[in-house]
Amino acid sequence: MKCPYCGFIEDKVIDSRPTDEGSAIRRRRECSKCLKRFTTYEKVESLPIMVIKKDKSRQVFDREKLLNGILRACEKRPVSVAQLEKLVEDIESQIYNSLQREVTSKDIGEMVMAKLKNLDEVAYVRFASVYRQFKDINTFMDELRKLLNEK
Ligand SMILES: [Zn+2]
Repeated sequence: MKCPYCGFIEDKVIDSRPTDEGSAIRRRRECSKCLKRFTTYEKVESLPIMVIKKDKSRQVFDREKLLNGILRACEKRPVSVAQLEKLVEDIESQIYNSLQREVTSKDIGEMVMAKLKNLDEVAYVRFASVYRQFKDINTFMDELRKLLNEK
């Protein structure tokens, strides 16, 4: 591993331990030349999750894309990016934990909505309106009514 301080390529590992979630290994290294210490992370390369879209075509799950969609729904709402990143992370691990390699875009949408509902109702309705593509004002009103009745 190339030393970030002097660029030398030899080092020794002085400590090695899994990160909190166990998904990565953190190694403390010491440069054999300048003796400065630095940290590297080793991650298991995970298999991609495939998303089945409405037209049955498949696409690799893209967390950035999902996050962007949710960010748009949360524009000017009191929801922090950190909260949304956590939300996307939760969904991602939920999919991984289900041990399914494929998930429908509909399922992802439902997961997002279930979580957004607790976070911010306006964002929830905005996201739902894009996601469910409400055909008309009535289906939209139905959704709002459902939301109100849950209170
Ligand atoms: Zn060095």
